[in-house]
Amino acid sequence: MRNNKHRRVFSGLLILSAAVAVLILRLAWVQLIMKEQTVPGTKYTMAKMAEIQSERETVLDSGRGRLYDRKSEPLAGETIWTAAFFPQEEKAKKSVTKVVYEEDKPMHRLAEILGVSYEQLLNKRSSLKEPLLWPSSVGKGPLALTPAQAEEVSALGIDGVSVLPFARRYDGNLSGRQWLGYLSEAATQAGIKASPTGLRIPMTGTDGLEKTLEPLLQGVGHTEAYAQVDARGNRLPGSPIQVRAPGNPYFPLSLYTTIDKKLQEEIEELALKSGMKEGAIVVLDTGTGDIEAMVSLPFYNPEKISPQGGEWNNRALQAAVPGSIFKIVTAAAALEAGVTSADELFYCSGQYEKYGLSCLKGKGHGPLTLVQGFAVSCNTVFAALAERLSGVQLQSTALALGLGRDISWQAEKTLGFPLLKPLSGEQKGTIFTTLLPDDKGARVQTAIGQRDVQVTPLQAANLIVTLLHGGEVRAPRILQRVTFANGQKLEELPGHLSPSSAGKISESTARQLLSMMRKVVTEGTGTRLQSTYWPVAGKSGTAQTLVKGVARNNQWFIGYGPVDHPRYAVSVAVENVAPDSPHLAIKLFGQIFDLLSASSEA
Ligand SMILES: [Zn+2]
Repeated sequence: MRNNKHRRVFSGLLILSAAVAVLILRLAWVQLIMKEQTVPGTKYTMAKMAEIQSERETVLDSGRGRLYDRKSEPLAGETIWTAAFFPQEEKAKKSVTKVVYEEDKPMHRLAEILGVSYEQLLNKRSSLKEPLLWPSSVGKGPLALTPAQAEEVSALGIDGVSVLPFARRYDGNLSGRQWLGYLSEAATQAGIKASPTGLRIPMTGTDGLEKTLEPLLQGVGHTEAYAQVDARGNRLPGSPIQVRAPGNPYFPLSLYTTIDKKLQEEIEELALKSGMKEGAIVVLDTGTGDIEAMVSLPFYNPEKISPQGGEWNNRALQAAVPGSIFKIVTAAAALEAGVTSADELFYCSGQYEKYGLSCLKGKGHGPLTLVQGFAVSCNTVFAALAERLSGVQLQSTALALGLGRDISWQAEKTLGFPLLKPLSGEQKGTIFTTLLPDDKGARVQTAIGQRDVQVTPLQAANLIVTLLHGGEVRAPRILQRVTFANGQKLEELPGHLSPSSAGKISESTARQLLSMMRKVVTEGTGTRLQSTYWPVAGKSGTAQTLVKGVARNNQWFIGYGPVDHPRYAVSVAVENVAPDSPHLAIKLFGQIFDLLSASSEA
């Protein structure tokens, strides 16, 4: 019994060993001999075939959400047509040199369209190991083809050249749209490898809307074009160029802003031509308080951010010394307190006693009413008002009018955010930085918008909207709607008020101030605005500042138009100019209103 069992085990092992030996032989055969044999039906050996199962791809769309303007024009994530080149087949590469001009007309035409020489195009194409989206000469992205060019390139029918849509984040140009922000490389996460094209590096919003809306903008997957290649990077014969997309009908999301892209661009151009170097321009819809344009200078390039440069700062949200535009607040405080009236008579001798304040270069305005004093921006009149007001009255009137506090649109528990606040880096500004002083000198300086007073250009424009709404402060909105990729609505973000514990000024005071602002244009510091197509109204300001110990000025003009049916509130802040420079802010204000009237009536 025992012997029999042993014999069975032994013969079992023998059979197993024989099987293993056969396997080893078979492997050796494959390794040493068969790998050099051609696989039936192909011209490749087995070794080659093992290597060829690879593909080369290029990213057409990172999947990041898109930002649009109020008319659905793309602001970030525009789809453009590009010329995509894939590695050629080996056979095609070898035959390149033999091609004569007449046979290669399509490539000559393609070179023309791309703006390169025929030879440059051939060289680039034959040396390709990876797919290439033909690069633009400006910016980081590929060259954008016009629809006609796209059609023509497609019709040329060149093998390995396709016209493909590409989601371009930015256009590579300088702009004053700092509210948009920019992207930077996300901290490298383990396991994520950048593609050779560099387009698959994860990017994350670092400022502006790109940052505050990051959770909504984050992509759900790349769309890429790919083709099969061999080990040497030649495209496999007959391998077509294919596109692979996440195929999610809901993402990426589309975010609709209140910005008017065309208006934004036109104002950027105006500001640049005017020679303005620093400052901001804000255009609000007077009905809603929506931001239609917000331009900040110096311009920035979202593709080339220098951290120390500071151009990415949105000056429209940064507080600056306002000077005489703050007289609107002082007049409001005095009218509300009942310490003056529109026709009270003052006398300006040019010097205001003990505070060392001068007016009209010391010559003085002579006798004038409050309305006239506001129109010509008489410091004496406003110093007199300051003496009748307390610091608390000035401060609370400013707060009631939406200064000295955050005012931009925000909402709690919305779209998954504990607090959704699309504008980033908004400064509050200040009225008094120290405890409310009982010092008259401090109040006089404050009443004319100097000393500690700081206001953002956005707050200044919104102050006008507030007066037009009878004293009710609206929260300026920049994001109005979010939809899914298929157009289905995800969330509507309605405008709202921005009330304060300081309350609001009365409607009658608001009305008086608005009519006083008209007098600025008809008989005061803004008479050069009488030639605008729409009648406008507003208030000028020239604030004295010190920049690194050097005397500088901020020039302001804020107002509304057309006077009878106001549609827009505009603030222009030209910052940090040499004292006694021509008043660029008034000039720009007029030019902007002529833009607005022309585009409204076109
Ligand atoms: Zn005066």
